[in-house]
Amino acid sequence: MNRGKRESLEQKATDLWRNVPGGPPVAVEKVAAFVGAEIRQEPADVEVSGMVWRSPQGAIIGVNSLHSKTRRRFTIAHEIAHLVLHNDDSFHVHEGYALVGRRDGDASLGVYRKEVEANYFAAALLMPKELLLRDVEVQRLRFDFESEDTIKAVARTYQVSPQAFTIRLWEVFGISLSGVL
Ligand SMILES: [Zn+2]
Repeated sequence: MNRGKRESLEQKATDLWRNVPGGPPVAVEKVAAFVGAEIRQEPADVEVSGMVWRSPQGAIIGVNSLHSKTRRRFTIAHEIAHLVLHNDDSFHVHEGYALVGRRDGDASLGVYRKEVEANYFAAALLMPKELLLRDVEVQRLRFDFESEDTIKAVARTYQVSPQAFTIRLWEVFGISLSGVL
């Protein structure tokens, strides 16, 4: 993804978040309601993280209720991203974080691109740049981002996984961390 695309996704996620401001943690269920999606949490095979189904009556986001809270939040944000960004798909099931389709053709490359976009948007929605700036720049003295404990503690306030938080720090600030991923 080039810089222009990332900035565009960042902006769209920020604009959406401003409708349901606040956090951390960002009220991702309220964001889903704002875009007209109903959330259904059901047990599913461990490999399945979620699905999104769109109909003229509205959208349904299915989430694997057996997954951890942080993962379920990321799944909801990811499916919201598809609803906002990719309105040409009516149905989508996800295995794992990124739907890994067959990558041996133009169509699957298109699917892969959408997954990368959805993951970037989801992270930007759950960890808005504005909140991160406050936490990382203003309170920098309080945090030791070399410390795994610090990463875990701050990630907990966003209700995201330490891995997702670390990736987001790298994307926004170029802060590289070892030992977490
Ligand atoms: Zn997806």
